[in-house]
Amino acid sequence: MPLSQILPPCIAAPLAACGPRVRLALLPALLLLTVLPAAARQDPPAAAAPAAAPRPNLVLITLDTTRADHLGCYGYPRPTSPTIDALAAESVVFERCLAVLPHTTPSHASIFTGVYPYEHGVLSCSFRASVEDQERRAFAPTERLRSYAQILADAGWNTGGFVTAATTKKITGLGHGFTAWSEPEAEVCAGDEAAAHALEWLQTVPEPFFLWLHLFDAHAPPREKHVKWVKEFAVDAALKQVVAERGMNVSARSGRRIDRTHEIVRYDAGIRMMDDHVRDVRARIAERGAWERTTVVITGDHGEGLGQHGVPLHGPVWQEQVRVPFLLKAAGLAPGRVPMLVSSIDVLATAIASSPGLPADEFLAQARGQDALSSDFEERPVFSMSPPQQREHALSVGRWRLIRRQRDELLLFDLERDPHELKNVAAQQPEVVKRLEQQLDQLIRDQKRRHAWYYEGHGAEAPLSDEEAEKRRKELEATGYADDGDAGGDGDEDEGGDDGA
Ligand SMILES: [Zn+2]
Repeated sequence: MPLSQILPPCIAAPLAACGPRVRLALLPALLLLTVLPAAARQDPPAAAAPAAAPRPNLVLITLDTTRADHLGCYGYPRPTSPTIDALAAESVVFERCLAVLPHTTPSHASIFTGVYPYEHGVLSCSFRASVEDQERRAFAPTERLRSYAQILADAGWNTGGFVTAATTKKITGLGHGFTAWSEPEAEVCAGDEAAAHALEWLQTVPEPFFLWLHLFDAHAPPREKHVKWVKEFAVDAALKQVVAERGMNVSARSGRRIDRTHEIVRYDAGIRMMDDHVRDVRARIAERGAWERTTVVITGDHGEGLGQHGVPLHGPVWQEQVRVPFLLKAAGLAPGRVPMLVSSIDVLATAIASSPGLPADEFLAQARGQDALSSDFEERPVFSMSPPQQREHALSVGRWRLIRRQRDELLLFDLERDPHELKNVAAQQPEVVKRLEQQLDQLIRDQKRRHAWYYEGHGAEAPLSDEEAEKRRKELEATGYADDGDAGGDGDEDEGGDDGA
């Protein structure tokens, strides 16, 4: 039953502007107010007047290609992230947040809508396709599925998006809802450029505002060009140990040893550059006295192989490809760490529910993502998939991680004993494999059904046919990404790892 039918308008209206958690907490008291005699509520009259609902700012910074395990606050031993680590100390840090798909455009579409790729229909990056094809494959909002930027803009937030790559440009559909906007003229630009636009905008934009800053400095390209921090991240004992523990220095195909360390030096330097931009954004918001009333989300769209499992870039569903940072700072939210598995579709749902005053109802109604800080949140199977041409799906459930390649190759990993997914135990655990595969199939069926509901048979593309998947595989190969070879130099070892950015 709508609140307006239970409560008098003077209470129902401001309550409707609160987040669902606040509503839930306030509801018993407010219901009591409605049954008290009018006289009892009139003394003193001022006390009964509801305070103006807060309208917090929201900042979303997406660190492209950033493995959670290369940030200090996630245990990385090298100093890649001093600003983010300091922010982590005043935030809730989600230790196991998995991206839905390790390519930029689909992953961001899921963050902004709170639904899985099969549901919004953006399944791969299309920036090398024809303009017509790019438009056809872009995220297309419908009445049933919108970007949170659109929802915020309609509610009166000033929205600004500042992006650094072809895979996040307006043509991808990720720009829906943003009034202020900057994107690179070429395929990519340095984070410096997008951050400068964002900082200028932050200087004068009236509150409340929603800032999305997309940073790309750890991505290859352009990380080959970064020289700023490379000397500070020279190969050291800590790096050699990381590489050995994760099995990054051994070819997946031949077992030969390959030196990955110099690629990781450039990668770490790229993360350090993004950390500087986070520092500058924080300083600018603090300068204008708005830091306390600004909800801040730091997350990523996917990780990077760096040679782990023989994959130099990103695309498959190995954990290092999908485990991303997720930090949430909001007014009144106690800092802490959350060990439970969450998905990147939960990111905005959680931020919204933790920030009374952010518009909540429409987004939470459309999203499959949940408030991971709710007292009734229960860890659920977390789904990831590759772009369709790679045909990989994964399901993470507690200690177990099932990966299905092609149609029937099944891998199972026990992350408690084997955190880097080095030993396939599918043959020893057939019952677990069977249970997880059934859950995986059920989820995929549900997602495809929901796509039809969101789009009512039109709009974004439907899941790919085999023919179309093959066409896209060739399209990627033609760009040279799919055959990127080994970063360490001998170039003949690595499998898969197609990028598409
Ligand atoms: Zn990306």
